[in-house]
Amino acid sequence: MSGRILVIGAGAAGNVAVQKCAMLPEVFTEIHLASRTLSKCTAIQARCAEKWKRSISVSQVDADNVNETVELIREFKPDVVLNMALPYQDLAIMEACLQTKVHYVDTANYEPKDEAKFCYKWQWDLHDRFKEAGIMALLGSGFDPGVTNVFTAHLAATYFDEIHTLDIVDCNDGDHGHPFATNFNPEINIREITQKGKYFENGQWVEIEPMSISQDIAFPEVGSRRGYLLYHEELESLVKHFPTLKRARFWMTFGEEYLTHLRVLENVGMTRIDEVEFNGQKIVPLQFLKAVLPNPSELSTNYTGKTSIGCIVSGVKDGKPLRKMIVNVCDHAVCHAEVAAQAVSYTTGVPAMIGAKQVLTGAWSGIGVFNMEEFLPAPFLADLNQHGLPWQIVDAPELSV
Ligand code: NDP
Repeated sequence: MSGRILVIGAGAAGNVAVQKCAMLPEVFTEIHLASRTLSKCTAIQARCAEKWKRSISVSQVDADNVNETVELIREFKPDVVLNMALPYQDLAIMEACLQTKVHYVDTANYEPKDEAKFCYKWQWDLHDRFKEAGIMALLGSGFDPGVTNVFTAHLAATYFDEIHTLDIVDCNDGDHGHPFATNFNPEINIREITQKGKYFENGQWVEIEPMSISQDIAFPEVGSRRGYLLYHEELESLVKHFPTLKRARFWMTFGEEYLTHLRVLENVGMTRIDEVEFNGQKIVPLQFLKAVLPNPSELSTNYTGKTSIGCIVSGVKDGKPLRKMIVNVCDHAVCHAEVAAQAVSYTTGVPAMIGAKQVLTGAWSGIGVFNMEEFLPAPFLADLNQHGLPWQIVDAPELSV
């Protein structure tokens, strides 16, 4: 099956997702890209025409406004809406999909603007309404969440009778040449990192001070790097869908330079998300910081190095203990050559296209609201290999913590 896709959000990851859809005309027969800033849509439109010989249509939309999105959907008549805007827009775009009965896919769970708190509750609560409307919502189809959920499901189904621990390990060993920059939307990224860490152990969530637990991890094709325990959204759905998990954690690497900058920015109040008075105007310091930081979509030109992101799972098979790792390694320069993006945007945009493809082709089908691990991993894994994110099973590195 094939069909029409509406992509909302022309940022760093949206740029990749749209180009990847453009490369698959047999699946994505018509593509429309809409975003807050029209010039970003037309730049991607020009790239699709020049590099992929695809003509896509574009328009301006404020996706916070449900009526505007409903109108756009009624006009373009997509079979699926791919939300590549920010987590703040999730609920409004889902509402527009409900009103027009169109399938929905996103890459990050909802987060209210005024509180750095992301969780699936708001979106899971829409399950019955999606079911009644006879449509499907696929949540978190990026890399982490997204590929990491599918990786976990694959290991669990293929190698284990029961899985007991999960460590998701995420390393960006790239160098973009800037003293400080974030690889995806700075506001979302800094909110994620500066909140308390959290992991799951023996049926409970354990909260820790930000960045207070770390260890060196031997990342495939990269080597030993310091990983910090963070809370990440896929842990919430994975412990729900794999109830045998006794412990689930997420680790991300940061360089010393990055952490020092972040500490200073926090200490001087630049990461605050409440409003402050400035020259008779109210501004949010973190939003101002975003305006002066490099744009993640413009980092890729001289970016070198690789990302190495995977899942380490332990459990039992035939009564014997077992550990396995599954991982993807992605090279920034290779991504830049293909779609003018760095690997963090690439590893988000490619799975977003693949998630939309599963929904459009019916390889993954259902009515209601779903997380990635609820579907059979095979078609998604095959597409990862085919569309630029090959994965491998490797010996799991030992963890000291
Ligand atoms: P960017 O900030 O680069 O892009 C976001 C885009 O959404 C921008 O073009 C922005 O418009 C647009 N946008 C924002 N608000 C609205 C609105 N109200 N209406 C219409 N368009 C809007 O972010 P990224 O591309 O880095 O990230 C995109 C998404 O991917 C985020 O949700 C992020 O959390 C997620 N992500 C997921 C990952 C994963 O592995 N699962 C990893 C990395 C990111 P404008 O250009 O005007 O600002």
